[in-house]
Amino acid sequence: MPVKVEGVTLARRESAAAGPGSRALVVDLIRSSGPISRVELVKATGLTQPTISNIVRRLLDDGVVRETGDTVATGGKPRTMLVINSRSAYGVGIRVGADALTCVVTDTRGGTIGRELVAVSDDLVAQLAALYHHVTAGLGLAPQSVAGLAVVAPGPVDVARGRFLAVPGLEELDLRRELSALGVPVLVDSDAAAASVGEFWGRQVSRDRTFGCLYMNSGIGSGVVLDGSLQRGASSNAGEIGHVSVVRDGALCRCGNRGCLELYAAPAALVARARTIPGLADRLGVRPDDPYPRAFDVLARAAVYGDDQARALIDESASLLADGALTLANLWDLDTLVLAGPGFAVAGSRYVSEIRRRLGESAFSRHVHPVQVDLSSNPRDSAAIGGAALVLQGSVAPGHGPQVAAPQD
Ligand SMILES: [Zn+2]
Repeated sequence: MPVKVEGVTLARRESAAAGPGSRALVVDLIRSSGPISRVELVKATGLTQPTISNIVRRLLDDGVVRETGDTVATGGKPRTMLVINSRSAYGVGIRVGADALTCVVTDTRGGTIGRELVAVSDDLVAQLAALYHHVTAGLGLAPQSVAGLAVVAPGPVDVARGRFLAVPGLEELDLRRELSALGVPVLVDSDAAAASVGEFWGRQVSRDRTFGCLYMNSGIGSGVVLDGSLQRGASSNAGEIGHVSVVRDGALCRCGNRGCLELYAAPAALVARARTIPGLADRLGVRPDDPYPRAFDVLARAAVYGDDQARALIDESASLLADGALTLANLWDLDTLVLAGPGFAVAGSRYVSEIRRRLGESAFSRHVHPVQVDLSSNPRDSAAIGGAALVLQGSVAPGHGPQVAAPQD
């Protein structure tokens, strides 16, 4: 298998001096380019051969990477190839949704090895702990093999205090403290941030891509990953593209701004609009008490199957979202954009084609490079998978991921 290493590009973008970020850099290159040899790592990083040898030796000792057993002869000395050891650690991510908790366990390469979905109950903290125990015990995972648990939910999030400010029942609680009895590191982050890291990690995206992720669930958020690191802003609340005004002096949003994109394009808004169209909800079988995620899936399915009224609503949402995607692409000069989140689970292909079309026509950099737009391979679970990826990135590539704090006492 050819090794894709943009040695020149990386050498220019990364300092050649060994520093605290060198281990993260090497792990990230093995993750995205593996199988890869030590010689190729030297070329790709600009670090010296002894430095690479030392870092790789430590990674082998820690079990983070392994040698494949294959060697590649390139005229000189045969080269031993390195890959990420997928079974070195496991990450657990739980997404708190409007009506359900999704728990996913992944291995170090981002492969899902377990998944459980449960309806939300009154005592969220007890439910989070029970779900964690149930899933890890069901898989027979030893506590020491679990790198940690990330709980992800819609923002705003107070990462430093472990709180979700807009999730009923969790606004005042430090989840890291509440879940300390689990005995593994616990972190919290926004669903969009988690999904961005998860898509970057799981799709083996090369670190020299300028990678963006547009996440749609109850709201619309985004994340950008540069040189392997999520751009978090001051408090991990960056990328709130859903709270960019698209209607001047429009409706008042929960965030305090007016005319926000998510008031017009997100699933809850579309369901509310569908309910005001005479006869539509009845015709599609949407009941008055259906929670909006279910109602939105019904609406999206009807659009995919050609219902004119449903299709008009979804297409308008896709057009508004394309405005958001264009803003995101122009702000960051993205070359890759992935759509993730339950909002894209059913009618994602309609959103992808509209966003591709708009970026192809209007992206500021379109005459310099294209922007590749893809749909997540698992839009519904992307935030939970991303939670697991956040924990693993913080554990095996410290410096790129969040600080995975030790359990609180
Ligand atoms: Zn807003």
